[in-house]
Amino acid sequence: MQEYEIVIGLEVHAELNTKTKIFCRCPNSFGNEPNTNVCPVCMGFPGALPILNKRVVEYAVKAGLAMNCRINKISHHDRKNYFYPDLPKAYQISQSEIPVCENGYIDIIVNGAKKRIHINRIHIEEDAGKLIHDDEFDGTLIDFNRCGVPLIEIVSEPDMRSSDEARAYLETIKMTLMYLGISDCKMQEGSIRCDVNVSVRRTGDAEFGTRCEMKNVNSFSAAVRAIEYEATRQIKILEEGGNIYQETRRWDDVKGLSYVMRTKEDACDYRYFPEPDLLSIVIEEKDIQKIKSGIPELPDEKIWRYMTSFGLSQTEAQLIAEDTERALIFDESVKLKKCRPKNICNWLLSDIAKIQNKNGCKISEICVTSHSLCEIIERVEKGIISNTAGKKVLSIMCETGDSPDKIIRENKMEQNSDVRELALLVEEVISENQKSVNDYRNGKKNALGYIIGQCMKRSNGKANPAIVKEIAEKLLD
Ligand code: ADP
Ligand code: MG
Ligand code: ZN
Repeated sequence: MQEYEIVIGLEVHAELNTKTKIFCRCPNSFGNEPNTNVCPVCMGFPGALPILNKRVVEYAVKAGLAMNCRINKISHHDRKNYFYPDLPKAYQISQSEIPVCENGYIDIIVNGAKKRIHINRIHIEEDAGKLIHDDEFDGTLIDFNRCGVPLIEIVSEPDMRSSDEARAYLETIKMTLMYLGISDCKMQEGSIRCDVNVSVRRTGDAEFGTRCEMKNVNSFSAAVRAIEYEATRQIKILEEGGNIYQETRRWDDVKGLSYVMRTKEDACDYRYFPEPDLLSIVIEEKDIQKIKSGIPELPDEKIWRYMTSFGLSQTEAQLIAEDTERALIFDESVKLKKCRPKNICNWLLSDIAKIQNKNGCKISEICVTSHSLCEIIERVEKGIISNTAGKKVLSIMCETGDSPDKIIRENKMEQNSDVRELALLVEEVISENQKSVNDYRNGKKNALGYIIGQCMKRSNGKANPAIVKEIAEKLLD
């Protein structure tokens, strides 16, 4: 139904990859034996006092600057009180009134166009433990290793209008955190999680509709499905004359539906109050400047630059940018100005990617540098070797580590681009294949392909096919 507009706001929780937890010195690491990375602080024993890990603030500021936020020079910790078995203290230390970062934005690219999505706030908080349910036993086990793992929560404004935009937003956030090096961003390990808020309204309405929030959305594609499902559900209710009530729903990705978990709690239900065991967080201007200077070119800028300066498609630009090593070799290669950026992109995404897939390795682990890659591409662009030979040079280079020119020389791979020699070759082939010549002149244009094929064969694949084609056409027409 076209007359409705979907409105989406996302809350993204990202675990920070600091060495230790946020308020104690337990290691912050995933996949350890349950309940081994714990201490009185993260277990909430009476009398144990938290001490803030300074890195957490640094990482949050880094994220805030990358997402164009205002950094609050003074912010506070607040207690969010609730009971759940994975939260031994029965409160989570978070930030309520004054977060570290506020009022930012990121630009996403959807269908080739930029759109700005505003960020309401980024605050720091601690993660809770993990409940383990299994068919092998009755009841539930608890692993407290995750208690006190540092998180940032990035809260967007309700600026997205489709599941495509939501997906692009999530991907941009993930890539940005990856570029900053502050989160592992592994969805399957839960290091990025998101809550999805959806409402609908009739197109043209000034007011937003009532939102529902969905939890347990464990992948970006699940977010897309959850949004589609929720929008359809709400539109149906409105069409039938019903009302939407604010509630928290649980998304079941296997069944492809959501159900009510609880009607919406209000902030006051959590009895937020200032955390008495911690001081205010004070951030100095000089520290902000220092963190700012360590921020690299970010993925949305990079992708846009690749599209506008080098004519790459959005997909190509994203494929290059999403892998930081690939982006690095692309940027270095372009700077050498030896060959066309579009060709560098093609080589990286096809031949190099194939070698990576085959060996399951990163670009830095194969024997190719921006210099050697550009040398191969340049030889192909100049017609010194054929495209097919170029691919062969690359694969030999990856095995032996020899330079492209040495490989070309030793394997006698140069193409013959000598116009006079090639003309003689074409003349010879034409005089011996009168039938094809007649076919061609009688309108069977694909007879030309046969002639060129014969020339290639006779030259052992060394003739420059572009030149052969040109000569053959001239002689035949
Ligand atoms: P809560 O604590 O209830 O989760 P937050 O302020 O943390 O509230 O998050 C609210 C989220 O809901 C934000 O991402 C915001 O953009 C989104 N949101 C607010 N109003 C709407 C709406 N009408 N439709 C869709 N999303 C909304
Ligand atoms: Mg929420
Ligand atoms: Zn601890």
